[in-house]
Amino acid sequence: MIVAIDGPAASGKSTAAIGVAKALNITHFDTGSMYRAVTHGLISNQISFKDTKSIKDFLESLKLRFSNSKKGTGLILNDNNVTDFIRSNTISENVSEVSAIKIVRDFMVKIQRQMASDTDCILEGRDIGTVVFPNADFKFFMTADEKSRAERRLIELVRSGDRNASELDSVLDDLKVRDHKDSTRNHAPLIKAKDALVIDTTYLTINEVIDKIVNTVNQKRTLY
Ligand code: C5P
Repeated sequence: MIVAIDGPAASGKSTAAIGVAKALNITHFDTGSMYRAVTHGLISNQISFKDTKSIKDFLESLKLRFSNSKKGTGLILNDNNVTDFIRSNTISENVSEVSAIKIVRDFMVKIQRQMASDTDCILEGRDIGTVVFPNADFKFFMTADEKSRAERRLIELVRSGDRNASELDSVLDDLKVRDHKDSTRNHAPLIKAKDALVIDTTYLTINEVIDKIVNTVNQKRTLY
């Protein structure tokens, strides 16, 4: 069973997907963190985003895997734990440029399909219901108004020490820029799949969002 969740930045996808995975006892894949890891790898190896040949070589030698520990899911890139680095401002500012590169997307789609091939799972991202798994059993598109999304993201950034609480406007601007880039790129732009169920999380608690998804899945599952 494949459950796809797409939506713009900070719409609540990750928190919901983690809760749903736990409730349904299925595997969770955060595909955004994979694009972040590649961005981190290119930057730390000083590979230009325009240097297609070096990007191709980098991808061919890339080893990327998720790790599970008591602290949660982490990401291991070429034997280095990059979990803490991939949420930095530098990565957030550059990831949309990297995720727009066709060879990066082709590579990611391939490994995401492989990862999901032998397990029931929930994948969250931007193109899961449209490109990676157009035949997913369940598709959700999560949204929330821009201000709520920026407020949620600011809370995370204040907690990690990256921003201070007065920076709501600049966080909002960053989200808008990233969503615009993700929605207007040529390859696999962020759009709602025609058959996805929209969940507006602006006025919902996280538990309400999780319940909505879990109930939708369970209702259909009992019909089989
Ligand atoms: O979900 P998160 O905000 O961590 O995603 C980081 C970035 O990765 C997005 O802004 C987008 O550029 C890219 N992404 C993507 N396709 C996905 C998941 C993420 O292009 N399926």
